[in-house]
Amino acid sequence: MYQELNISDKTIKLIEKAEDSLKEIFHQIDTSCMRNTAKVLSAFQKYNVSENYFNSTTGYGYNDLGRDNIEKIFAYCLDAEDALVRSQFISGTHALTVALFSYLRPNDLMLSISGLPYDTLHEVIGIIPNNSSLASFGVKYDQIDLINNDFDYPKITEYLKNNKVKLIEIQRSKGYSTRKSLTIDKLEKVIKCIREVDKEVIIMVDNCYCEFVEDKTPLTVGADIMVGSLIKNLGGGIAPNGAYIAGKKDLVNLAGERLTCPGEGREVGPTLGINKSLLQGLFMAPHVVASSLKTAILTSKVLEDLGYEVEPKYNENRADIVQNIIFNDQNKLIKYVQGIQMGSPIDSNAVPMPWDMPGYEDQVIMAAGAFTQGSSIELSCDGPIRPPYIAYQQGGLTYEYGRLGVARAIEELQNSQSE
Ligand SMILES: *Cc1c(COP(=O)(O)O)cnc(C)c1O
Repeated sequence: MYQELNISDKTIKLIEKAEDSLKEIFHQIDTSCMRNTAKVLSAFQKYNVSENYFNSTTGYGYNDLGRDNIEKIFAYCLDAEDALVRSQFISGTHALTVALFSYLRPNDLMLSISGLPYDTLHEVIGIIPNNSSLASFGVKYDQIDLINNDFDYPKITEYLKNNKVKLIEIQRSKGYSTRKSLTIDKLEKVIKCIREVDKEVIIMVDNCYCEFVEDKTPLTVGADIMVGSLIKNLGGGIAPNGAYIAGKKDLVNLAGERLTCPGEGREVGPTLGINKSLLQGLFMAPHVVASSLKTAILTSKVLEDLGYEVEPKYNENRADIVQNIIFNDQNKLIKYVQGIQMGSPIDSNAVPMPWDMPGYEDQVIMAAGAFTQGSSIELSCDGPIRPPYIAYQQGGLTYEYGRLGVARAIEELQNSQSE
């Protein structure tokens, strides 16, 4: 059965052995998936989803019943007062950019408390110069690094006592860094700490890859606004593109004015036929996230059994769907990523190579055998070509496909030589 897929019995045995020890952990994931599934179904019923929500608008997009209700449904699922869920966001980075430009004005100060933000935000903020960056408009930026994978509480308190900060940015998922991703518990603790000294500062969370991993959302524990992509968790592998901004109503409305134009705001924005896909994607999302988590945990266990360094370990609490394998070897990283591509449903014959990517500083190798371009809720794996040569793997629309993709990558890895 597996020979056609170039997966050996030896690899399948390794995987089956790992699965034996993962039963209890997989059961916990199913329990959490059940809770998030119930929440999504409640939202569909509360907002009376019916076939006419699948209709959509063209042109200006006035009176798009489906769009407006989809935003309410997303808000409910994220414990938000309101949400802006639009295909006019071309990526997660775009939604984060719109949010930052909505809330920050000349001379305002933005503070990241989770260290250096995601690579594609460097030019947005002006950490790397760009004539359209926040810095070019006179917005100031500062950052406080994490220490031992947690927030630097004393430094944050001290900073907020001595500076008027307009917006705090917290990135939960690790991006292309070597730190751990930040759980809701840690987020809750730091938000309490912030609110003790500053009741006004806008707390904005980059929540990419974290939706439906835990039961609570950043908003449940006191954040003001959260942002994420629809070609990650909440799109369930079905949304064709888009992103969301959710949280306090006034902040969501401000983002609407910035996404389209002042005065038109959220009243416009044609949905061009995607309403049904967004609803179906959200409907599937809890299960797809659970499948991605199981794929990540399996990967962690098997690769650890094979002697590789992994983060997180299979039995650690997870904040997101990302699994790292630290190869300490360029050739092994490349082989593994190529193996993920070979185990994919789309473009399995393509051989990914390290390449320059817009918005990223190092060359990056990416396996993306996905139905939707760049979709990383589908099994995908990428890594910047720099020591210690870490693979960032995420996604898996079903556990079965995730398992087979990983098996193919392990096969490729085992047959490769180190440098
Ligand atoms: C994916 C991601 C983003 C946004 O990336 P896009 O490719 O622009 O959607 C931002 N922050 C983090 C931590 C991410 O993982």
